[in-house]
Amino acid sequence: MLRRLIKTLMLYVSVWQNCDSAAKVIVYHDIDRKWTPMGTPVNVLWRHMALLRKGDVVCFDDGFRGIWDEREKLKVVSCKFRVVVFIAVGLVGQVGYLTWREIRELQDKYGIEFQCHTWSHQTLAGPYNDEVSEPINGRTEEWYRHEIVDSKVELEQQLGRKVTSLCFPVGYFSDDIIRRCKEAGYEKVYASYPGNVTDDYIQPRCIAQDLSPLAFRATLNGGMMIFERRYKNLHKF
Ligand SMILES: [Zn+2]
Repeated sequence: MLRRLIKTLMLYVSVWQNCDSAAKVIVYHDIDRKWTPMGTPVNVLWRHMALLRKGDVVCFDDGFRGIWDEREKLKVVSCKFRVVVFIAVGLVGQVGYLTWREIRELQDKYGIEFQCHTWSHQTLAGPYNDEVSEPINGRTEEWYRHEIVDSKVELEQQLGRKVTSLCFPVGYFSDDIIRRCKEAGYEKVYASYPGNVTDDYIQPRCIAQDLSPLAFRATLNGGMMIFERRYKNLHKF
């Protein structure tokens, strides 16, 4: 509680110092906490959505099932804003995750866009992600190809359309990963440090899953920039 209050205060100090109401890319993991503790309570999420402005983009990482459960309301959001779900191909159909049939229906009937979040959801740089198994022989060339290239090809086949973007698992990346993504034909990559909508190759995103509506309002006005350096140092290797 105290931590949340301090964070909200910091966000507002940051807005007060440097208000920036440019469009933002906002990121969540799921709607409700039925499938993951990283989910956002349903009522909080819809209050966030009511605060969005022209040009804002909403992302959900990993493809958890709350998106399916709340699809009718999400359709209303996707009529006004770009809604992008980043899918780790190897997680599709596992307990708590969307299936291919649902993904295709969400794309075709609910206006939701799907992009790549690698194959296994193992980190591409920096420390390994404890939640998924480590690559057997470490990060070999074949492994990179599987995570960055094969995942794109598989997703394109399943969706029947071109995949243009990749989002880094856990937000971890490096210059080498950027090079590999460019070589694989990705037009844009999505990071997890805060910033505005940009034409740059790396698109910053503001993590909003734990924010109260008050803190979210500050985030839309640039409040997260107070944490930019910290998140960048944490995620870039
Ligand atoms: Zn993820």
